[in-house]
Amino acid sequence: MTDIKSMTQAELAALFQSLGEPSFRARQVFRWLHRGAASFEEMSDLPRSLRDRLAGTCLLTPPQVARKQVSTQDGTMKYLWRLGDGNCIETVLMRYHHGNTVCISSQVGCRMGCAFCASTLGGKVRDLTPAELLDQVIFTQKDAGMPVSNIVLMGIGEPLDNYDNVRRFLELVNSSEGVNIGMRHISLSTCGMIEKIDKLARDRLQLTLSVSLHSPDDETRSRLMPVNRGTGVEALFGACRRYFEQTGRRISYEYAMIDGVTDRSWQAELLAQHLRGTPGHVNLIPLNKVAESPLQPSRRLAEFQKQLERLGVTATVRRRLGGDIDASCGQLRRRQLLETAAQD
Ligand code: SAH
Repeated sequence: MTDIKSMTQAELAALFQSLGEPSFRARQVFRWLHRGAASFEEMSDLPRSLRDRLAGTCLLTPPQVARKQVSTQDGTMKYLWRLGDGNCIETVLMRYHHGNTVCISSQVGCRMGCAFCASTLGGKVRDLTPAELLDQVIFTQKDAGMPVSNIVLMGIGEPLDNYDNVRRFLELVNSSEGVNIGMRHISLSTCGMIEKIDKLARDRLQLTLSVSLHSPDDETRSRLMPVNRGTGVEALFGACRRYFEQTGRRISYEYAMIDGVTDRSWQAELLAQHLRGTPGHVNLIPLNKVAESPLQPSRRLAEFQKQLERLGVTATVRRRLGGDIDASCGQLRRRQLLETAAQD
């Protein structure tokens, strides 16, 4: 079956040409798909014979809502989507004054093994297709009945570990015939895959790169994040510098505040030292507790932030949204997996 929704308009044009259809069909079908048509049957301005032919040869499996939680505190909505093959992923819709932001997953599970993260506990199952990445935006908008103006690739999975599909998704979601979200309204978060950061830099996209740093020293970072082993923080900052030089985009560094592990005074100093050569801003994240992990949230958040500012580093604290609906990364899928396992 052809994964028609992962195709660009140019590829659709080639497909319809090979079917002997007029070229305007590509635009027609692209628009239907990107408006969230759930079947070819819905595409009422296509001839019946073509609808039947597409239904027989092309894949169109919109995700189903497996669970949905809405925060009574701030309106944050969390979706657990069931994909065509039964796997589940999470998408979160966050409501800000400046518009709605959707946080999407890039893989089913994750293989990166970060010590504080719920998404990686069961390892990686598979990559998401461009269509599945896109569907999270389209169907969250549709179900919530609210337009989305910003996208963050910060859900389950490592987006740069699924580079080609993510790259294609960016092109699709950016299309003026489709969802039409500009690159400047998209952030991609990575645990720091150096070669892929360089690859992304060469693509010169205008998106915001967020790097999950979490510690400025190799000993701590390698302990928390296996991706750091064998390369190190210095090499990561090297890639960040090159990224900035190539794209002109400042990097945002995510820094989870973990009690006695990442929140020590000398770490603020070392972080400031690293950042002197690389323009960027630090986003301090209060650690979300994960049941399977002994790591605890830091009690020094405000102090650490002040120290960074004294050292000339811009540091903000991430606002917690959806605190009442376990909206932090990977927890809803984790719960679903545990419950299913308990039933079996
Ligand atoms: N794989 C990508 C994107 C997914 S995680 C990455 O590593 O950046 C999105 C962000 O949430 C990352 O910064 C990640 O390190 C952070 N994160 C994961 N688990 C967390 C937890 N328990 N508390 C706080 N932040 C967490």
